[in-house]
Amino acid sequence: MRLSQMLLVTLRNDPAEAEIPSHKLLIRAGYIRRIGNGIYAYLPLMLRVINKVSKIVREEMNATGAQECLLPQLQPAELWQESGRWDTYTQAEGIMFSLIDRQNRELGLGPTHEEVITTVAKDMIRSYRQLPLHLYQLQTKFRDEIRPRFGLMRGREFIMKDGYSFHADEESLKKTYQDMDQAYRNMLSRSGLQFRAVDADSGAIGGSGSQEFMVLADAGEDEILYTEDGKYAANVEKAISLPVDAEASPFDTYEKLETPGTETIEKMCEFLHCSATNIVKNVLYQASYDNGITVLVLVSIRGDQDVNDVKLLNELTKYAGNYEAKAVLALTVPDVEAQKKWAAKSLPLGYIAPDLSDDYITSSKQVSPKFLRMVDQTAYTLTNFATGCNELGYHVVGANWGQEFDLSELVVDVRKAQKGDRAVHDPSQILETARGIEVGHIFQLGKKYSEAMGATYTNENGQEVPLVMGCYGVGVSRLAQAAVEQSYDKDGIIWPVAIAPYHVVICIPNIKDPQQIEVAGNLYEELNEAGIETILDDRDERAGVKFKDADLIGIPYRIVTGRSLKYGKVELVERATHQSQEIIVAQILSTLKDLIEKALK
Ligand code: ATP
Ligand code: MG
Repeated sequence: MRLSQMLLVTLRNDPAEAEIPSHKLLIRAGYIRRIGNGIYAYLPLMLRVINKVSKIVREEMNATGAQECLLPQLQPAELWQESGRWDTYTQAEGIMFSLIDRQNRELGLGPTHEEVITTVAKDMIRSYRQLPLHLYQLQTKFRDEIRPRFGLMRGREFIMKDGYSFHADEESLKKTYQDMDQAYRNMLSRSGLQFRAVDADSGAIGGSGSQEFMVLADAGEDEILYTEDGKYAANVEKAISLPVDAEASPFDTYEKLETPGTETIEKMCEFLHCSATNIVKNVLYQASYDNGITVLVLVSIRGDQDVNDVKLLNELTKYAGNYEAKAVLALTVPDVEAQKKWAAKSLPLGYIAPDLSDDYITSSKQVSPKFLRMVDQTAYTLTNFATGCNELGYHVVGANWGQEFDLSELVVDVRKAQKGDRAVHDPSQILETARGIEVGHIFQLGKKYSEAMGATYTNENGQEVPLVMGCYGVGVSRLAQAAVEQSYDKDGIIWPVAIAPYHVVICIPNIKDPQQIEVAGNLYEELNEAGIETILDDRDERAGVKFKDADLIGIPYRIVTGRSLKYGKVELVERATHQSQEIIVAQILSTLKDLIEKALK
């Protein structure tokens, strides 16, 4: 491709819409263009990157025996009603775009394809002889994300590789899951990325395991906790740890104390001369279930700890049945406005006790009359603790479970693991923190969808039993941008050779010089013929502009047909290091071949 003919518009300044480096750079370098909120056009250079990532993904998937297919994006609502996900995915904070066709039928735009693939499996898999089977696709997904941002990182339309495997038993599923773990590691290493595989939350689905693949970068939306010994790494949503020990309680008798102006744990500690580990704090949540029921949840946890919303949500999902619901649509800390809907009187905020009376709730058809009370293990093991007493300006100290406070509550683990905690596998290891961009997720689904949708097969004993399933996703467009987030400098993008849109850019500093034109033109032909993907900057621009653009778009190698041409040499500059060498024209091809081969190893 000649740059004089290519759609390449670069910007000197950072676009106002972009917050993180990779987003700024992809826009500035002319790779993507914003069309709407979370909606982007992939311009020619970007598409080449996407195609390279896709090629690596396909090769690694095919190597495991998975087969590529293509599923519809337009999905009938009935499929999602069968699996029980239609309401959760279209209502409240749901992420599925839904629409109604002219026959008045409801449809959704595919955010994911478990329902579709399970329907295919239900129709086509009859016997254990057809198992295991793994189908995957590369396709655009639609998700009405609450907060689309960071360009391709969180779009409302994005490219995903999603694969679904079907098995006769758990053992076979585990084998494919292991194969996928390896395939994902291969994909990311081959794409030139630094990553970490971490334990991930399997959410309401439960399942026996799931892992996320995180590209390490400061701008990552996810927090990872890991240990130096390399034996533990988990998404903070899922991470477990041993909390620091509680300090000995300074309180030995139960009493109620006037504690004005101590609504926060910090102020309480100061006033009562105690440690946050001596306090039971009581946090109020509001859960909205999918049948419209609101449940007020009171979580008691040790003062120095925080609640992990994901763990709490999973707990609440377990109790959905108690409210004749299936799923939690939303979990929030109710603000003043939300409290108005159910609070019978004003709440003693900052002074709430674990036994806050149910009288605070005005019950109705939509609101459960009782608090759902949960005590985190960290609070449950405390003795002689301080806590609120449901009266503004007062706390109690020296309290104990089973004495002043009833222990009929559910004891749960909803504590958020944090940096500095001791590791469970080896308490001498301390959890460290890093930020990551989730580019892949592998998941042992089990029978959730096959049971709900009746996808069965006949086993060796002639019995009809549900299929065991796994699912595996890679955010292709997110991965492409994550590569930039991990590799850039003040001048622009530094693509890993494996996914760079082109390997080489040839810059002609002076297009009035026939010798430069000729040598550059010949090299351009020669390199492309040899499979080295090369573009030619033959634009009528100053040399400085060309060099700046070459750096910005991040092509790994630049050839300049400049002054040394009179000695039969051209300049070869490596983008990552800016190192330059002069090389005899006849040796350029072999030099580049070696460099590229080495980089792709
Ligand atoms: P996240 O927690 O980031 O929202 P997710 O758990 O919803 O991701 P999955 O449903 O597992 O993601 O989708 C598989 C992969 O698709 C993710 O690992 C991620 O790389 C990518 N992905 C998910 N949502 C988006 C999005 N809105 N934009 C771009 N890529 C996405
Ligand atoms: Mg998501």
